[in-house]
Amino acid sequence: MVESSRQQIRMKTGIEETFSSLKRQFRGDLLRPGNEGYSQARGIWNAMAARSPALIARCADVVDVQSAVRAAAAAGVLTAVRCGGHSLAGFSTCDGGLVIDLSLMRHAAVDPQARKARFAGGCLLGSIDAATQQHGLVFPSGVVSHTGASGLVLGGGFGWLTRLHGLSCDNVEGFTLVTADGSIVHASARENADLFWALRGGGGNFGVVTEFEVKLYPLRSVVLAEGLCLEDDISGLVQRWRDFMPEAPDQLKWNLNLRLAPNTENVPVEVRGRAVASESVLWLGDPEEGEPYLNHIFSLGNPIAVSRRVVPYLALQTMADNEFPHGRRYYTKSGYFKSLDDTSIEQMVQALATVPSPATQIELAYLGGAAARVAPEETAFGDRSSPFVINLLANWLEPSEDAENVAWIRNLFNQLRPSMAPGVYVNFMSGDEDDRVPEAYRERWERLVEVKSHYDPNNFFRLNQNIPSKKSLMMEKEREE
Ligand SMILES: Cc1cc2nc3c(=O)[nH]c(=O)nc-3n(C[C@H](O)[C@H](O)[C@H](O)COP(=O)(O)OP(=O)(O)OC[C@H]3O[C@@H](n4cnc5c(N)ncnc54)[C@H](O)[C@@H]3O)c2cc1C
Repeated sequence: MVESSRQQIRMKTGIEETFSSLKRQFRGDLLRPGNEGYSQARGIWNAMAARSPALIARCADVVDVQSAVRAAAAAGVLTAVRCGGHSLAGFSTCDGGLVIDLSLMRHAAVDPQARKARFAGGCLLGSIDAATQQHGLVFPSGVVSHTGASGLVLGGGFGWLTRLHGLSCDNVEGFTLVTADGSIVHASARENADLFWALRGGGGNFGVVTEFEVKLYPLRSVVLAEGLCLEDDISGLVQRWRDFMPEAPDQLKWNLNLRLAPNTENVPVEVRGRAVASESVLWLGDPEEGEPYLNHIFSLGNPIAVSRRVVPYLALQTMADNEFPHGRRYYTKSGYFKSLDDTSIEQMVQALATVPSPATQIELAYLGGAAARVAPEETAFGDRSSPFVINLLANWLEPSEDAENVAWIRNLFNQLRPSMAPGVYVNFMSGDEDDRVPEAYRERWERLVEVKSHYDPNNFFRLNQNIPSKKSLMMEKEREE
């Protein structure tokens, strides 16, 4: 009790020091509780992680980022870094501390001849897609355009193009970041190679990334086919998906979402609210070449409401935006499978009978392809050997329903866990899973701790799936003794 009120006083004093130091030179906005715009700036995507920072430093440029890091580190202030604010765990905000908010830094510059781009640390996926599509180019990223690019890329990043072009982090050639002492550091294959390795999967542990240099690929449109498979056909369909995907060409991405059919126009009225496997199949190549694959997939499981069309890339990248709006309540648990056994499939299908919220989904994706061909030691990204990724994502509105929704996810996760391979994708973890962070990195853990200890010895950047420095590990051990 006494210790926590001492901490609160230290934090308040530290925030006052940080504010007075910043207000002299800061070019962006400094927002404190009560200021106009504070309430809006405080919110992040997941309403389960609503918190009240004492200061939001909305940086205008890299110099602002340096000033904010230096001032907060000197004053010992708890600091969160925010790009898109989509951390499922709520790491991009905090109570009583500082938020370094990069939302004014959303510039993306494309070099179409070289098929390369540079984008700033506050970019959303949509900011990058808009810039690259002007030249008919794409950067492989995630599937919802309002997601922040920094958090996604630093944790790995997968989406529609992963099987063809690899993870987002596999397509980064350079990072510019502000480290914990306020220095600007560049990391690439030639410069600070260990840091370059760590930043490709190691999350926000090493500094504030202010610029990414990335590779692009030509793509303007894709073939998208969708359908719904009902109740008794779901298990059989998932089994066939499991058996088919390991042999599928890289141009094919076939995702399944197990859920209750939504109340939307494209779903027949008599199906709404019933358990379904919602199928999205993407063909990234010559449409004629893809046809036999799509015909085969939609010959399985008696699908209804089947559609097939060519869609512009920007339409693809925004089509799921409304399904995951800001301000709802979300809770997730995720894991990998080397292969998906029939019992696990049955457990997922059975669980739909008791799902508390109609917006909740069991997302099934198969990676493999280009992502699996990158050698495991090449990046810090956790796991490339288990191609099946399962994400249990609860999505509901009312705080009074928190316990029920969280319990449903935990219960299903506990049933599936014994069949899962070790490991987890750090960007699909909740805030109550810090014990799984070493599991996420496994044989990469010691090397990550070394890099962390070099660039952030005091663990200043700790609001993340945290890799502690050696010093912070030692201090924790001392506190426990
Ligand atoms: C609707 C939705 C869709 C998603 N879809 C996908 C998907 O298709 N593929 C996928 O791989 N993941 C996906 N995710 C997960 C996503 O990768 C993570 O939520 C990721 O953290 C989002 O990044 P952000 O920048 O918005 O996060 P923020 O909440 O802003 O930050 C998350 C973490 O990253 C750190 N961070 C943020 N910016 C920086 C920076 N510039 N420098 C250093 N550290 C920084 C923060 O400190 C924090 O620890 C999705 C998430 C949501 C909510």
